[in-house]
Amino acid sequence: MPGPLLQIAHLRIAFDTRRGNLVAVDDVSFDVHRGEVFGIVGESGAGKSLTGQAVIGLLEPPGRITAGRIRLEGRRIDNLPYARMRRLRGKQIGMIFQDPLTSLNPLYTIGRQLTETILTHRNMSHAQAREHAVRILSDVGIPAAEKRMEHYPHQFSGGMRQRVVIALALCVNPKLVIADEPTTALDVSIQAQIIALLKQLCEKHATAVVLITHDMGVIAEICDRVAVMYAGRIVELGTVRQVVKHARHPYASGLMGAIPSLRHRQERLNQIEGSMPRLAEIPAGCAFHPRCPEAFAKCRRRRPHLIEIQGAQVACWLYGEKA
Ligand code: SF4
Repeated sequence: MPGPLLQIAHLRIAFDTRRGNLVAVDDVSFDVHRGEVFGIVGESGAGKSLTGQAVIGLLEPPGRITAGRIRLEGRRIDNLPYARMRRLRGKQIGMIFQDPLTSLNPLYTIGRQLTETILTHRNMSHAQAREHAVRILSDVGIPAAEKRMEHYPHQFSGGMRQRVVIALALCVNPKLVIADEPTTALDVSIQAQIIALLKQLCEKHATAVVLITHDMGVIAEICDRVAVMYAGRIVELGTVRQVVKHARHPYASGLMGAIPSLRHRQERLNQIEGSMPRLAEIPAGCAFHPRCPEAFAKCRRRRPHLIEIQGAQVACWLYGEKA
């Protein structure tokens, strides 16, 4: 039986600054299996996007990996030379970012962008690549795909443009897609369509997805498992059922409380008081303690590590030694 598709072990990402070495991602470990949709959720500054950028080798300096390993199909990829990582990124790992214009060249028709990507990574003639591009465009729900091949990115609406980006990410059948806030810039009505489309296409092609988002609602909709990140660390990891329905960590349950419910009438949504600490100001002990309604003395002194509870992992002193 093959091992996990993606393995991240004890990943640490730091920034060298004038104020010293600031750790933005600390001791992050998780596996993603073939065909699985794995969510990473948290507020901005939690380290979730940096984790995704490290996987695709696009960490921007002065950010760098200072410890840990990233493996794809058992092979280490965190130390690959730039050119090899670039090839891998196009062929085996697809990317979808929040702003579709980051991935699309405004000067080329989308037909040219799709066809060139396919020709770079697959052994096809130009005519076959074009035919494949039309097929994948219509798969992602672009009407009159043949005609739309000749259009430029600015001739598409935001939602349609994100569909094109999904087509671009999936056109060479990657094993893994990193989707960083793929729906955040879209209208709410379009968000659900794009999420459904991503799920449906990845199921069809057995592509694994790492979905990075601040939105627990999106996680509940599409993911199989989820890691909740806070101040650079994973604080809870488990199946969507474990984390979304029965969150143990007070931060994870706080995120859940912020999702509107159709079943229970609420005047105001619950919110977590305060905000994520800056990198240089991460408190000692549990980083969440200044915001945690359940904090007690030990939380201010000692940092909790992930422990396993009924198949899920939680880093909180309410479980483990005190319990
Ligand atoms: Fe709250 Fe303490 Fe648990 Fe941190 S360790 S989440 S402060 S109860």
